[in-house]
Amino acid sequence: MLRAYLIAIGSELLYPGHDDANAIYLKNRLFEIGIPVEGISAVGDEEMPLMRVLESVAPTVRVIIMTGGLGPTEDDITKKAVARHLNRTLQYNEDVKRDLEHFFVARHRVMPDNCLRQALIPQGGKVLKNHVGTAPGIIMDDKNRLYVLLPGPPREMQPMFEEQVLPELLKRFGKPVFCRKHFRMTGIPESVLDQAAAPLYQKYADIQTTVLSRPGDIELIFTGRDEDCAGGLEVLCGEIRAKLGDFIYSEQGAPLEEEVGRLLVQRRLTLSTAESCTGGLLSKRMTDIPGSSVYFLGGVVCYSNESKIAQVGVPRDIIERHGAVSPATAAALAATVKIRFGADSALSVTGIAGPGGGTTDKPVGLVYIGVVVGERREIKKYQFFGDREMVRYQSTQAALDVLRRMLSD
Ligand code: ATP
Repeated sequence: MLRAYLIAIGSELLYPGHDDANAIYLKNRLFEIGIPVEGISAVGDEEMPLMRVLESVAPTVRVIIMTGGLGPTEDDITKKAVARHLNRTLQYNEDVKRDLEHFFVARHRVMPDNCLRQALIPQGGKVLKNHVGTAPGIIMDDKNRLYVLLPGPPREMQPMFEEQVLPELLKRFGKPVFCRKHFRMTGIPESVLDQAAAPLYQKYADIQTTVLSRPGDIELIFTGRDEDCAGGLEVLCGEIRAKLGDFIYSEQGAPLEEEVGRLLVQRRLTLSTAESCTGGLLSKRMTDIPGSSVYFLGGVVCYSNESKIAQVGVPRDIIERHGAVSPATAAALAATVKIRFGADSALSVTGIAGPGGGTTDKPVGLVYIGVVVGERREIKKYQFFGDREMVRYQSTQAALDVLRRMLSD
């Protein structure tokens, strides 16, 4: 499979405050032309660590791009390490020598002796001109594998990559015709999802699988590089739908709140919300979607017991008998906020977001969600884990998902 590996060389990159900006740039550009990156490493200015990375990654990738360590000083070891790794000698390149001399003459400076080291090129390497600095880049083939050596400073590396490396990659590997499928899911832990999906996607070596996950939300992305993959991709997607369809809320990449909005519009229904522990996050997410005023009538952040009673209309004795975090209060919140707003449907959330406030009976992360759609109602109990922000996000995600499922029935 066509894949690349990126190696940044420079001891400064191993210390705080110096991050590998080249990897971010290169992985994005490579992804755009259909060459996924298998891995990224950063090593110091020492030959052996770089050799070890080269030895270990070379067997599985078609392209290795290195940045940094091409300069004139003793600690610029990239070319030496690559030459040793490929069992080649370093030879002076007359064109580079001449370019270096011109560079210094044009600036009325005397060329330091060590600068000539930059003209040493591993045997068989093709020189990439550096129009910004002095260190030339190098591109060379070895056993069906392409080695690319680029200067470290991003302002030198980027134009060299764009002008001289990118055309070479497109010439060799072709312009990709991507086929991509995107599933967004909720209500299933990542480990359970992967257990179900891995035996399916592992059958397709040409299709790259990416799983992006955060509590309450998982994206499963399949990418094929050419049209040959399209047939396999269709079959794979059918298998994924058959096995995990219950958890898939979008195949277009839309967030859950957008999908819920779409369903409300489709069914010509309006929505109102009563939120305790989520403090308005549910309303925020609903109103993040342009055009949501068509279906979202409004919400109440009813954090205190008094506001649940006075603002939303929950009967006092329900809260006194069952407590604010209870199925009865969640049910009453949804039922009364629906009436208050004159909406067709309503969502309520009441729970303990933490970090304090938990008890043995009602631990941090316990959340009740109430949903009413017309005459139908559902009350759900959840036990979430994670910090306050995670509990709150997962609560809104679960609330939206219960509503989505009811609207999809
Ligand atoms: P030159 O001789 O033209 O500077 P070089 O290949 O020898 O090229 P290095 O000496 O390794 O480059 O790095 C020079 C500077 O470039 C570093 O001090 C750092 O500021 C920047 N640099 C190097 N690598 C990276 C990287 N991966 N990400 C961001 N900046 C980098």
